[in-house]
Amino acid sequence: MEEDMIRRKAELILGGGVRIPHDWRPPVRISRSTAGPGAGTRGLVFRFSGMRVKKPISTDEGEFELQPYEGGLRLLRAGEVFIESVEIEPVIFHSPGQAFFNLDQRCDFRCLFCASPSLGVEATKNLTPESITEMVAEASEREDFVSVALTSGVVGSVAATVESMVRTVSLIRERLPWVTIGVEPYVDDEDQIWDLREAGADEMKINVETPDADIFAKVCPDLDHALVHRMIEAAVEIFGRGKVSSNIIIGLGETDEQVLDEVRRLAEMGCAAGIRPLKVNDINRTALEEVLGTLKEVDTDRLIRLARGQKQILEENDLDTRTFSTMCFECGCCDLVPFRDF
Ligand code: SF4
Ligand code: SF4
Repeated sequence: MEEDMIRRKAELILGGGVRIPHDWRPPVRISRSTAGPGAGTRGLVFRFSGMRVKKPISTDEGEFELQPYEGGLRLLRAGEVFIESVEIEPVIFHSPGQAFFNLDQRCDFRCLFCASPSLGVEATKNLTPESITEMVAEASEREDFVSVALTSGVVGSVAATVESMVRTVSLIRERLPWVTIGVEPYVDDEDQIWDLREAGADEMKINVETPDADIFAKVCPDLDHALVHRMIEAAVEIFGRGKVSSNIIIGLGETDEQVLDEVRRLAEMGCAAGIRPLKVNDINRTALEEVLGTLKEVDTDRLIRLARGQKQILEENDLDTRTFSTMCFECGCCDLVPFRDF
């Protein structure tokens, strides 16, 4: 049963959107993402068997179909029941339980898989450290509130972007001394990591994006793969083991062996890596295929196989996704999360 539901979660993660009936009103506010794989789309979080997945929704089309029936909701695929019983879970900001803000979805860098910079300035234009702190304070009174998380594109310079994140963390920490805060910045200097820690951040995520340095150079031409690894090492020293995570995107042409070697390399440093399937869409397909050739889609078996390998490596290194209470491990909407989902 568990195996079957994990497969269904993997299929849902990798599959298309969810068609909702025209006359159906969701019981919660619809989330509009400015970061992550769902950037730019309207989405809902579907909960089933203790797991959750966030999917884009539409009244016109979708690989899956939401069907209300007496007393509940189910998901269909090709007219057949796909998941017998789902619930719609509210998000606070971006994620269930979390006030997760993207300080600025613009970015001076050009990572080819990233949709954030293409969304226009509208999505995050009114956010300031002060307004975010207000929204966090309000959100913290909700029963389902768990934590706060901050991410940001790089605008002006890495240092200036981190400075704005530091200011936001400080304001939130001052207002809510008890709250858990996770940060996901691009950093290029160890002092920036110290600044975030001293401002009051508890968890940090620094993304390696891909294990293959050549692919990295092609898809993140403005970033430095070796530097990212040095920053992760420093972050573990500053934040501690089990408080630093990273993201590995699969589907860019890397092998399974490379992915698991990277998970191991990071785990040996004390950093827990998440594995995220690439979402190819109209915004990123041409640019990605220009440098990488035709992309082979991640399939369900590969996603499950790698998640199992990831779990084993984390276990061998005494790491667990449950030591995190912010960002993607806590949320679990876009990946198979070892120790939480299986
Ligand atoms: S650094 Fe790269 S992944 Fe991050 S927001 Fe900028 S373009 Fe996107
Ligand atoms: S798993 Fe991460 S990227 Fe996906 S919705 Fe949750 S917080 Fe956002």
